[in-house]
Amino acid sequence: MTQFINDRDALVTEAISGLLRASNGKLARLDGFPHIKVVVRNDWDRSKVALVSGGGSGHEPAHAGFVGAGMLTAAVCGDVFASPSVDAVLAGILAVTGKAGCLLIVKNYTGDRLNFGLAAERARAFGLKVSMVIVDDDVALPELPQPRGVAGTLFVHKIAGALAEAGADLDTVTAAARRVIDGAISIGMSLDTCTVPGSPKEQRIAYGKAELGLGIHGEAGVEQVDFEGARHAMSMVVERLKPAMAEGPHVALINNLGGATLLEMQVLTEELARSPIGARITHVVGPASMMTSLDMQGFSVSLLPLTEADRQALAAPVAIAAWPGLSDFREGAVLPLPDGLMPIQPTPSANPQRRELLKRCCEILIAEEAALNALDAKSGDGDTGSTLATASRALIAALDRMPLADLTQLYRAVGIELSQTMGGSSGVLLAIFFAAAGDASASGKGWIESLDEGLKRVQQVGGAQPGDRTMIDALAPALAALPQGIKAAATAARKGADHTATMQRARAGRSSYVNAEKLLGHNDPGAEAIARLFEKL
Ligand code: ADP
Ligand code: MG
Repeated sequence: MTQFINDRDALVTEAISGLLRASNGKLARLDGFPHIKVVVRNDWDRSKVALVSGGGSGHEPAHAGFVGAGMLTAAVCGDVFASPSVDAVLAGILAVTGKAGCLLIVKNYTGDRLNFGLAAERARAFGLKVSMVIVDDDVALPELPQPRGVAGTLFVHKIAGALAEAGADLDTVTAAARRVIDGAISIGMSLDTCTVPGSPKEQRIAYGKAELGLGIHGEAGVEQVDFEGARHAMSMVVERLKPAMAEGPHVALINNLGGATLLEMQVLTEELARSPIGARITHVVGPASMMTSLDMQGFSVSLLPLTEADRQALAAPVAIAAWPGLSDFREGAVLPLPDGLMPIQPTPSANPQRRELLKRCCEILIAEEAALNALDAKSGDGDTGSTLATASRALIAALDRMPLADLTQLYRAVGIELSQTMGGSSGVLLAIFFAAAGDASASGKGWIESLDEGLKRVQQVGGAQPGDRTMIDALAPALAALPQGIKAAATAARKGADHTATMQRARAGRSSYVNAEKLLGHNDPGAEAIARLFEKL
């Protein structure tokens, strides 16, 4: 895998141009590319305390993405994972600092401390009021004298930003920033290293392992641990945070290190709530990508003891897309299902022969799960087997509730069961099939004729005809041959299913987006499922 970049040297300047272009005019940059990469608010009148942060790039949206009213006034961007120069920082300070002064928010890395520190001195020599705070929220290495600055920096940006925006003076803003830094703790975990643009990816973390307590520049974690799922991962993170926590309620900042999916982040959020410290977390920021490490498939959790004043500062609205806002951290409401969704349950009745047949059909489909998934993976999303197997398992579990003695009711009950338990296209189509068969049976049609009506309805609703490379290519011939017996039906279904491998184009379903090259030579999974069912029967 490579990356959507042009060349490594132009990466950060091009990225800043892109950020500005989509900022609706709210952001500007200082002249001076490529050495000076400073993003500033475009509506800034220097009347209040300015907030300047920055550091190496590769942590987007930090920091340039947090420039805006109520957060940063300017962000000084270095190259990827490299501190910006003294001149660049000085340019940023001079560009935004008025009489009220300026607070520099610096993450605790030697390069940043030195470059920002020296720039602050030079700015002071110009007669400007400049104070500087160093964020050191990482608790991965408790005994380290110089803990790193990681995602807890966002607490500082937001709380100091809200105060500055409200007109507080430099001493007040600086004191608040120091207090937040004293209280903030963070730790990260990752399943993979990040890809530094232009360099081959370091393969440090083996499959099945995770790194705990890693930095945001691809530094190795404090330890490699076995990965045993989200709950276990979160429990290890919580174990490190817990001893460092203060008394009272906390706000958590749940940060995506760049490459975790939103689904993973939401699972982790729930796990944090269920963890031993979950009850002490009253508010949350995220989950979101705020302080990333390029594409690292990891997350970090930052905690801050929450005072009412800080809560208000964190909740103060800002028009900054990257800031997810502050939310209550409490279990979501569960509303009752609307009336009418739960159908009237049919009265269960016995018919051992039908019960056996139904069970047998289900068992056959369950046994074919892996094979059908593999086939679907060639033309679709690889889940036909699981969809059918899940529904089959549910159907077996529901056998005792089934009106087995009444075929009309049974067809309908199977349709309802499938509509409740089966997702995917095949699920809804089979639900329609059985519901229509039930209706036909109710109007006095025989059992095979009723199934024929089911097929007709599937064709009407799904819009697929024989030859369109769907399950219909096996189902239609099988039902047509069924009056001659199950063996004839099986032969016809097999012939129909195999014929789908010669069809260049699917005209229904997901595989209609797949080209002929990929389709040719493979049977349609839905059709194959029907063929195998009849064959095994
Ligand atoms: P999804 O595409 O939603 O993942 P499944 O994997 O559950 O659906 O089922 C895929 C099968 O559904 C296909 O192999 C095909 O036989 C069948 N199918 C898809 N669309 C139709 C349709 N319109 N009519 C009949 N069968 C269809
Ligand atoms: Mg599928």
